[in-house]
Amino acid sequence: MQHHRYDVIVVGAGGSGLMASLYAAKNKNVSVAVISKLYPTRSHTGAAQGGVGAALGNVSEDHWEWHMYDTVKGGDYLADQDAAEIFAKDIIDAVYELEHMGLPFSRLPNGKIAQRKFGGHTKEFGKAAVERACYAVDRTGHMILQTLYQQNVKAGTTFFNEFQVLDLIIEDGVCRGVVAYEISTGEVHVFQAKSVVLAAGGYGRVFKITSNALSLTGDLMSIYYRKGLPLEDLEFYQFHPTGIAKLGILITEGARGEGGILRNDSGERFMERYAPSIKDLAPRDIVSRAIYMELREGRGAGKDKDYLLLDLTHLPRDVIEGRLPDITDFSRTYLGVDPVTAPVPIQPTAHYAMGGIPTTVDGECLANSSTTVRGLYAAGEVACVSLHGANRLGTNSLGDLIVFGKRAGIAAARYAQDAQFEDLPARADGAALDEIERLKSGHGTENAARIRKELQETMMDNVSIYRTDETMSRQVEILKELQARYRNVSVTDTSTKYNTELMEAMELGYMLDVAEAMTASALNRKESRGAHAREDFPDRDDENWLKHTMAYRDLSRPGEVNIGYKNVVLGKFEPKPRVY
Ligand SMILES: Cc1cc2nc3c(=O)[nH]c(=O)nc-3n(C[C@H](O)[C@H](O)[C@H](O)COP(=O)(O)OP(=O)(O)OC[C@H]3O[C@@H](n4cnc5c(N)ncnc54)[C@H](O)[C@@H]3O)c2cc1C
Repeated sequence: MQHHRYDVIVVGAGGSGLMASLYAAKNKNVSVAVISKLYPTRSHTGAAQGGVGAALGNVSEDHWEWHMYDTVKGGDYLADQDAAEIFAKDIIDAVYELEHMGLPFSRLPNGKIAQRKFGGHTKEFGKAAVERACYAVDRTGHMILQTLYQQNVKAGTTFFNEFQVLDLIIEDGVCRGVVAYEISTGEVHVFQAKSVVLAAGGYGRVFKITSNALSLTGDLMSIYYRKGLPLEDLEFYQFHPTGIAKLGILITEGARGEGGILRNDSGERFMERYAPSIKDLAPRDIVSRAIYMELREGRGAGKDKDYLLLDLTHLPRDVIEGRLPDITDFSRTYLGVDPVTAPVPIQPTAHYAMGGIPTTVDGECLANSSTTVRGLYAAGEVACVSLHGANRLGTNSLGDLIVFGKRAGIAAARYAQDAQFEDLPARADGAALDEIERLKSGHGTENAARIRKELQETMMDNVSIYRTDETMSRQVEILKELQARYRNVSVTDTSTKYNTELMEAMELGYMLDVAEAMTASALNRKESRGAHAREDFPDRDDENWLKHTMAYRDLSRPGEVNIGYKNVVLGKFEPKPRVY
């Protein structure tokens, strides 16, 4: 066993992890290391296309209050307004900071950062769409990641790439480090730390059709939950309206921001019926439900009537190829459809987790509605501050990574600077080694790939855009059975070098846990709000449900989930019906 010691350890090297490590590393009193199962610039942040929203006002007048209002309303009033206020203010300077680090934003003719429209972003508190998304063509995330990685190299951050974290060391309510598996050698390492920042991204892979990379399997959410610690608001999972039909690969909302229109089989611009004022630029939950209804009522295109169309053909070729080069390429490559001359087949795709590990606005992880786990921080998609409430607006995730990744990094470094290294428990790596041993022992008769396929298909059928008591209750039973079968999984590859079968079997375990917490949270919430749409409870119910869910695994009764709650931080924007 190898042993390492750093003051601050960051788990994950996406936008939030690299922002946290960069700001921790700026504190010269602490040593900082990043552990990532992927090479940093392969993190999913690099796939983000459309942009990062900030009220710069470069194209038309804009204000942080308008951005904050849109975020709270877009989140169906479940967003914590302290977090939304910090966010909408701080993201403005943060974007300029990225610019000064060298991020090559697209430009206006006058040299300022270009901005385009995006769903749910409006002027004057909902009057009309506003240009707020700053972008680098449709490769914004790629540019953010490259920029932040270079800055970290400059700041002297140490990287442990292709190390998969398998456990968190938490004793007496204090985090003391992590346990990780070195993928290239099969060795288990213990990393002792004074503080740890979790920045391990989302878990879209629990669904069959998703925009998320293969690696997004909810690892750290599950590891947190396995310790009896809560996951917040997991019932709110966002489906993005425009995935490439049948594949789920994302076509950015920037395509509609540039003027793209959604049409059904008869060519009708159906969003006029669902969101008369902002139409195709309504928030994602509303557009995804509209697509689902069009399909259900038989207005889908194609021989099976199972997809709709994103029409860009009225836009000039240079706008499509110049501002949306990647998605133009995806459409030509994966569908054989040229968006310049023909509409692109689309369907909703599982995209973004609004919920996650509960944190304060400084990224401190919560052990319940009020106590923190000392020395443990989280930011980015793995976390729930809660900025996005029940539904995230497009471009607000990249902003979340930048603003709250930075705050978590600063807070973690400040904590570490004053803390001592605490003794590690004997056999800190025991649970991880036992799990590897169990999977490699060859005693199990189940196959991980088969269970994963069943998980993804049933989650897609039972806990997706629309839910009912019946579908979710069925899923609870299915998950109990899949969990039982998972305990009987063995891998056939027992080698030590790059044993991807073993890593994927571990990831399946994480996905099953997150699916369990998500389904229990969704079944428990008897209303519809944001991305959580129940056919049996179609209305929002502020009287009973204006509160965050906190799902805890019952450690004494396998498969059971205990639900608690946390207050929503209200503020200047009173909950109102959401009309677009
Ligand atoms: C296709 C696509 C397009 C998007 N476009 C936009 C957009 O235009 N605007 C916007 O605001 N949002 C967009 N989003 C959402 C946004 O990109 C993500 O929410 C965000 O990038 C997540 O960043 P992150 O730092 O939390 O995690 P990620 O970038 O997902 O990184 C996760 C990191 O955690 C590491 N990790 C995970 N598990 C482990 C483990 N067990 N051990 C060690 N390391 C681990 C990985 O190696 C990786 O480095 C998009 C998302 C997708 C999928």
